[in-house]
Amino acid sequence: MSQLLANLNPEQTQAVTLPPQHALILAGAGSGKTRVLTTRIAWLVQSGQVDAHSILAVTFTNKAAKEMLARLGTMLPISPRGLWVGTFHGLCNRLLRAHHRDAGLPQLFQILDSADQLAAIKRLLKTLNVDDEKFPPRELQHFINGQKEAGVRPHAVEAWDDYTRQRVQLYQEYEAQCQRESVVDFAELLLRTYELLERNEPIRRHYQRRFRHILVDEFQDTNVLQYRWLKLLADNGKEGGAALFCVGDDDQSIYRFRGAEVGNMRDFEREFRVQNVIRLEQNYRSRSNILDAANAIIRHNSDRLGKNLWTDQGAGEPIRVFEAFSDGDEARWIVEEVQSLVRDGHSRAEIALLYRSNAQSRVLEHRLFTAGIPYRVYGGLRFFERQEIKHALAYLRLIANPDDDTAFARVVNFPTRGIGARSIEVLQDASRTWNGSLYASVPHLSGKAGTSLGHFVRLIEDLRRETEPLALPELVDHVLDRSGLRDHYKADKEGAERLENLDELLNAAANFLAEQGSVPGEASGQPSHALLADFLAHASLEAGDHQADQGADAVQLMTVHSSKGLEFDIVFLSGLEEGLFPHENSALERDGLEEERRLMYVAVTRARERLYVSFAQSRMLHGQTRYNLRSRFLEEIPVELTKWLSPPNQRTALGGATGGGGAYFTPSAKPAASRESRPSSSLPGGLRIGQVVKHAKFGQGVIVAAEGGGSDARVQVNFGAAGMKWLLLAVAKLEAA
Ligand code: ATP
Ligand code: MG
Repeated sequence: MSQLLANLNPEQTQAVTLPPQHALILAGAGSGKTRVLTTRIAWLVQSGQVDAHSILAVTFTNKAAKEMLARLGTMLPISPRGLWVGTFHGLCNRLLRAHHRDAGLPQLFQILDSADQLAAIKRLLKTLNVDDEKFPPRELQHFINGQKEAGVRPHAVEAWDDYTRQRVQLYQEYEAQCQRESVVDFAELLLRTYELLERNEPIRRHYQRRFRHILVDEFQDTNVLQYRWLKLLADNGKEGGAALFCVGDDDQSIYRFRGAEVGNMRDFEREFRVQNVIRLEQNYRSRSNILDAANAIIRHNSDRLGKNLWTDQGAGEPIRVFEAFSDGDEARWIVEEVQSLVRDGHSRAEIALLYRSNAQSRVLEHRLFTAGIPYRVYGGLRFFERQEIKHALAYLRLIANPDDDTAFARVVNFPTRGIGARSIEVLQDASRTWNGSLYASVPHLSGKAGTSLGHFVRLIEDLRRETEPLALPELVDHVLDRSGLRDHYKADKEGAERLENLDELLNAAANFLAEQGSVPGEASGQPSHALLADFLAHASLEAGDHQADQGADAVQLMTVHSSKGLEFDIVFLSGLEEGLFPHENSALERDGLEEERRLMYVAVTRARERLYVSFAQSRMLHGQTRYNLRSRFLEEIPVELTKWLSPPNQRTALGGATGGGGAYFTPSAKPAASRESRPSSSLPGGLRIGQVVKHAKFGQGVIVAAEGGGSDARVQVNFGAAGMKWLLLAVAKLEAA
C-alpha cells in the first residue's frame, strides 16, 4: 500500500487519501489528475475501505477507460474487468442493458452513432414529406441533441414561435421512430438512464447504496445532463450518499460548443458543500520549454480560474517551428522527420501527429502510407464508420433486431437485389399505416414490391436461424458470405481495401470474444445473439479503437479534441494557420476564440520531450487552395522558446519578432521533500492503514501512514479540509469511525 503512495507528491497524496468526502481537484495539464484518480481507486480498495464493486469511475474516452483499467490491473490483485469504469455512454449502455424493461427498451436495442442518427432524421423527413431545406437535417439533429442534453423531452420544450413548434413536432416524431425501431442515439443513452434512475425508486436506491465512491475525470467537460446524472447517483450530496470526487482543469474545457458547462465546477463546489478543493501545481509531463509555451498561450484568455504550473524537468529542447510552402510540403517534411526519429530509435507509438480538423489527416496519411510507416488514426473516418463496415454491421443489426429501420434501409438493396426506390416508398407508407417497422410491414405488401422485399426478409430470417448456434467470429464470417457483401467487393476493382477491412471486422469480433471470455462466469455462456448485441454496442461506442494495426508500433494520428488526457514523447502540431487553428467558425461564436486557445493549450501540453509546430503558406481545403496567415497562437509562444527550422517568412507574419533561439527558462522551484513513512498493517488499538477515524478536533480522517512503535507510535492522518497531520497515537485518542 505504501508503494501506491510512494510516487506521489504531498498534495497528490492528500488527494488520493482523502476521507470519504466530496472533493474537487482543480489542476493544470500533466499535474497528475488522472494518476491521482486512478491511484485513489486502488487506495480505496487496497486499504479495505470499500469493495471494488462499490466504485464508479467516469472517463472521457474509451482509450482513457482502457488505460485506467490496465493500470488498476497492475495495482490491484483483482480482475479489473468487472469494475464500473467507463465513459458516460459506456456506463449508461451497461445500466440500460441491465434494466432494459424498466427503461422501456428491448434487451437487444441498438445504438445509433451520429452518422446513423443523421440518416434516421433524413429518413424521417422523407417519410413525413417535410422540406429538408426548411428543416436542414443537420440542424434538426443539433436541435434534438441539444434538447436531450439539457434533459428536455418534446412536451417540455418552450416553443414561442411556429418554427420552433414545428421542430418540436419533428423531435417528437423522431422519438417515436426510434422507439418503434428499438434504437437509441448517444444523447438518448444518457437521458434514458437519467429518467430511469429518477423515476424508478428501487433501482435508484439500489445504485445510490451500491456506489460509495464516484470519481470523474475531465469534469470540466461534463454537460448539464451528465452533471445531473452524477448528482442523482450521489443522492445530491445527502448524508449516506456516495462521495463525489471530481478532477478537472478549466483551461482544458473544449466542449463548450457541445453544451459542456465549466460552471458545473462551481455548482458542484456549492451544491455539495465541497470542503476539499485541492490544487496541484507541479507538472510531471513536459519539459519547461513546452510548459512555458503552454502557460504563455493560455495567459491570453480572460475567463480563467487561474493556475500556476511548474516543472523541475529542465528546459529540454526548443520548440521547433517549420514553415512550409504547401500542405503537401508540410506533410512531406513531417514524415521525413518521423523517419529520422524512428531511425534514431524513437518508438513510433510515442510520436503523435495532431491536427485541428479531421480533413487534415488525409495528406498526412497519404505520405505515411507512401513511406510505408505504420500509423493509426483515432477519430475521423473511423473503422466502424467506414462504408463496408457499416453495411456489414447493418446485417448484423438486423439479426439482433429486425425492427432497426436504419439498418434495414441501408442494406435492403445492398448488394443490389432489384429493390427500387418505389418499392421502398410503398413499404414506408405501409409502415406508417400499420404503425410497425419496415421489416414487420413487408407481409402487408403485394405485387412486385411484396415479392422482392419478401426475399430480403427471408434472407434475414435464414441468417438469424443459421447463425444462432455459431460463435461470434463465425457468425460474422457467415453473414459476410451469405449477404453477398464479400462477393460484391471482390467484384469491385477498388474493393481490395474494403475486403481487408471486412476481414478486420472478423478480427474485431474474435478479439471481442476473447475479451469477454476472459471474464470468469460472464458472457462466455451467453447465446450468440445476445453476445452479438454486446458486440454491436461495443462497435458503436468504441469506434476508432480497433484499427487494422492495433497493438503494432504505429504513429498516432488524431484531432486535438481526441488527444485530451493523452501524452506522447514527441508531438507534431500541424496547420497552425488563421482560419484553421483558430478555426474560422470560432470568430462567429461568443467565447469562440478562447475555446480555440484552450484547445491549443491542450495540444501543446500533450508533449513530453519535443514539440514541433508547423504551418503552410497555402493549403487545399474543401477543394480550394487557400492562403492563410500563420496562427496568432504561434505568435503567442515566446520566441526565446522556439527554434525556426525554415527561414521565417515575413509575408505570412502577423507582426512581432520572428526567428532565433534564445535563453531558456530554468526551473523555478523544487518540490517539497515528501516524508518517509513506514507502513504497518496493525497499529496499537487495532487501527490500520486506510481506516477511517474520528478526532475530537479535526473530525473525520483516514490513516495514511504510520511509524514508530509502542508509546512512540505515530500515524499520519488525512483530515481532508483540516489537512494532513502526524499524531502520536498515545495522545491523539483516535476513534474508529
Ligand atoms: P491532463 O490534464 O492532460 O489530463 P493530468 O493532470 O491528468 O493531465 P496525468 O496524465 O495524470 O496528468 O499525469 C501526467 C504524467 O505525469 C503522467 O505520465 C504521470 O504518470 C506523471 N506523474 C504524475 N504525478 C507524478 C509524480 N508524483 N511523480 C512522477 N510522475 C508523475
Ligand atoms: Mg488526465
